[in-house]
Amino acid sequence: MSNVPSAGLQPAPRRLGTPLSPSATRVMLLGAGELGKEVLIALQRLGVETIAVDRYAGAPGMQVAHRAHVVTMTDAPALRALIERERPHLVVPEIEAIATEMLLDIEREGLAEVIPTARATLLTMDREGIRRLAAERLGLPTSPYAFAGSLAELEAAIGAGIGYPCLVKPTMSSSGKGQSLLRGPDDVGGAWEYAMQAGRVAKSRVIVEGFIDFEYEITLLTVRAVGAGGEVETHFCEPVGHVQVNGDYVESWQPQAMSLAARGKAQAIAGAITGNLGGRGIFGVEMFVRGDEVWFSEVSPRPHDTGLVTLASHRLSEFELHARAILGLPVDTSLRAPGASAVIYGGLDARGIAFEGVAEALRVPGSDLRLFGKPESFKKRRMGVALATGVDTDEARKRAKLAASKVRPVAVQSA
Ligand code: AMP
Repeated sequence: MSNVPSAGLQPAPRRLGTPLSPSATRVMLLGAGELGKEVLIALQRLGVETIAVDRYAGAPGMQVAHRAHVVTMTDAPALRALIERERPHLVVPEIEAIATEMLLDIEREGLAEVIPTARATLLTMDREGIRRLAAERLGLPTSPYAFAGSLAELEAAIGAGIGYPCLVKPTMSSSGKGQSLLRGPDDVGGAWEYAMQAGRVAKSRVIVEGFIDFEYEITLLTVRAVGAGGEVETHFCEPVGHVQVNGDYVESWQPQAMSLAARGKAQAIAGAITGNLGGRGIFGVEMFVRGDEVWFSEVSPRPHDTGLVTLASHRLSEFELHARAILGLPVDTSLRAPGASAVIYGGLDARGIAFEGVAEALRVPGSDLRLFGKPESFKKRRMGVALATGVDTDEARKRAKLAASKVRPVAVQSA
């Protein structure tokens, strides 16, 4: 519920029911990967009836939900039919590639509440929508940027001021997919081709961004939750620091040390963008930092992969915070201990793999593991994550990386 609810928006459920009974509070997750799985577990603990939806059977979240459905989530009629059949109180998008226009109708008709809002899911799935909102409407500092719908337009944009080095990204993509770093004019043709192949939609546009020579990058997990007076309040978690390789997160830690000035700017940026997007729930606001300077990069209106660290470092993980906020319940964003996460990749292409070394990993002091239960492994697929706490983030990072290194995914011979 935003401060000024838009037409057709239903208020947060005022009480929680009993699952699988007429009083049930029903929540449908659109996307049931490792992040969705943790949200579903948090909802289950509050006695919510949960429905997991993803494009393939056996997705991690489906394994912990009351019901599971396999649907192509860009297929608007199929998704709408499912929502009409299941009648969830809340529809919670966990991925970007969803028929978001249809979610606008669902919200407008009052069929279900879309978390945080249908407009937020629509805007954030498109780099153009969110960048124009952040930079042009809200005046937030960002990298210099331009949009291009052809190779000629891209060359012209770079020539007209973006310059080199720069990054080219499909507007309809996330997590580094189709993204290239361009060092000179020879790189432009290849970058355009690569972006066209990797974008989510066939005929796409690209954003070209000037390269920001940042010292470190953060995710500021920002929660919009209902306060005691019934108004939506904004809460900031401690900043999460992370390392990205080819646009994919490999390691994160919390808290990331920041100057007071940078911290203040980061919170102001996160407050402005999430305030505009509205609704209730957690947002991952990604920013670049150098000294006291902060640039807005992206925002996801849902738990963020780098925020997996909160499973170790927070009293309430980002998933529990999301569950509480979307249900209209109070939140507590306090840190439990300095923590870190390190990704465990599949390392091989196979179905039904096994993990060796789990006991060794858990012998690392302060460590924990999440193995996602994905039915199929790929070399670069995230299959699990190691978590650790420590006296400081240096110790936590060492422990998380050590624990991750002990886990060995192996192929299983079929009988
Ligand atoms: P994105 O898919 O936009 O989140 O980008 C993935 C990663 O690429 C970011 O987390 C950064 O590490 C890097 N990156 C993206 N845009 C820029 C930029 N304008 N300048 C420097 N690094 C960037």
